[in-house]
Amino acid sequence: RAKEMGGNCFSFYSQEMNERFENLLKMETALRRAVANEEFFLQYQPRICAHTQQIIGIEALLRWNHPEGEMVLPSCFIPQLEESGLIVQVGTWVIREACRQNKLWQDMGFEPLCVSVNLSSRQFRSESLVNTVSSALADSGLEPRYLELELTESLLVDNTEHAISLMHALKELGIALSIDDFGTGYSSLSYLKRFPIDCLKIDRSFITDIASNAKDAAIVEAISTLAHNLGIGLVAEGVENINQAKLLKGFGCTEMQGYFYSKPIDANHLASILNQLGSSTLSTKVAKLMH
Ligand code: C2E
Ligand code: MG
Ligand code: MG
Ligand code: MG
Repeated sequence: RAKEMGGNCFSFYSQEMNERFENLLKMETALRRAVANEEFFLQYQPRICAHTQQIIGIEALLRWNHPEGEMVLPSCFIPQLEESGLIVQVGTWVIREACRQNKLWQDMGFEPLCVSVNLSSRQFRSESLVNTVSSALADSGLEPRYLELELTESLLVDNTEHAISLMHALKELGIALSIDDFGTGYSSLSYLKRFPIDCLKIDRSFITDIASNAKDAAIVEAISTLAHNLGIGLVAEGVENINQAKLLKGFGCTEMQGYFYSKPIDANHLASILNQLGSSTLSTKVAKLMH
């Protein structure tokens, strides 16, 4: 657009926009440095079976160890990674690191867990995704069934035919696919019939007020029935208290994730929890220990 206008595009910007642009550039420079200096790391949030209370999986969540301060959460930098295209490189690292770490836990003798990795739309659109995933599996030695990719609804609507064939190619590798933040995007139910999906993750926004809001409760119950009848898994995201957990269990929700069970934690913290748990059963006592 700047080229079309000719000359110095900055003269078309207000002071405020100029500053925003400069901040964005600074951010991008910092993120490029972060990639080069390997300042990213992963935390893991347990996913719990509603019936046995066992940890059955973990979600890998990206964090930025900023040199000048504290741990930075993804909402502060994922959009910029997306915009700059750096997300493909970082996302590849996330997939590889999650596979490596998960295989390491298995080699340490823990019960095998499935690790979930979030995908951005840019990654989903990149030519190399299937190769990236298959080489991450091959290089780590992780069995494909212990990797799940989380897609969002918005990522699937652009080019549906392409999305479906890509998803089938990913499924052929033997990994699992889930829909993240389910219910917040464009949820055409007919797509659920065509997408090779293993699991729905109900967005936290439906869970928060589930005890007081009859509409949220009705939506969650309906999604639960839908998942059951489709023969796919269901995870409730953002479960923060026992009340929500009980209601969700009553609605037939089979898996839970949220602060009530555990916040996202560092890899070594998770290992020590798995160690204490032995059979990885989460008793209420230990759930408290994890906060
Ligand atoms: P998400 O995939 O829906 O992940 C769940 C988010 O909810 C995480 O935030 C998690 O810390 C938070 N959460 C979990 N349980 C609770 C709870 O009980 N209460 C509350 N209030 N929050 C809870 P986080 O780690 O800040 O990540 C935010 C989003 O950033 C993720 O949402 C995901 O979409 C994205 N993200 C994280 N890691 C990656 C990544 O490696 N690649 C891509 N493309 N996106 C990522
Ligand atoms: Mg997720
Ligand atoms: Mg996500
Ligand atoms: Mg989510």
